[in-house]
Amino acid sequence: MQDANLSHARNDSSALQTRAAARTAPMPGFPARSVWEQFTLPPLPYDEYELEPVISSETVSLHYSQHHKAYVDNLNRLLKGSPYEHMQLEQIVEKTHDDPATSALFNNAAQAWNHWFYWQSLSPSGARPRGTLAQRIETDFGGIDRLEAELARAALAQFGSGWVWLVEEGGRLWVIKTSNADTPIVHGMRPLLAIDLWEHAYYLDYVNRRAEYVGAVIGKLLNWRFARKNLFG
Ligand code: MN
Repeated sequence: MQDANLSHARNDSSALQTRAAARTAPMPGFPARSVWEQFTLPPLPYDEYELEPVISSETVSLHYSQHHKAYVDNLNRLLKGSPYEHMQLEQIVEKTHDDPATSALFNNAAQAWNHWFYWQSLSPSGARPRGTLAQRIETDFGGIDRLEAELARAALAQFGSGWVWLVEEGGRLWVIKTSNADTPIVHGMRPLLAIDLWEHAYYLDYVNRRAEYVGAVIGKLLNWRFARKNLFG
């Protein structure tokens, strides 16, 4: 869905040819369930107050226990008696996208997944990218400053609700944005990091100042260890 809005910030890259294709990291996966269980809301990887002052505990609490939980609850409700009832979340997302008849299921499944990924993409540690990930960023973007600028630019260019992502596709890293519940995992891309651009992610703290929220998240909260794990395993 919404492929037209998937905007690649593709620069000319001679690195594409030289990049080793060998990669063994498993795709990032939502916590698996046994087929007879309902999906449960995965725990936050930190306490609700730990993202302060960038994101308040009020915002995290509302976002996690209301918005994210509602997606998981709706998902479980919509799955009952459907052909997707016993699949893992990534399969459900994959099989319901692009079909208007399953759009409600897709939206809730994808949002359950995207939010799980978003929470992992944030960390109070403030650590910067290092080592092989830093080298990779240097090759593909010309440095962390340029990657951060590209994330900020894409986030502001996204009209309405959606997400900005750092992804890997075809042997290099890209910044993309998606609308609503759309997610890189249905477009053959490997997500490394995500930032939620829905107003519920920042309105309590920043009102309509998306640029301020995104700038603060990029500068202080991105979880580069998670990005590295998603890329290299
Ligand atoms: Mn959200």
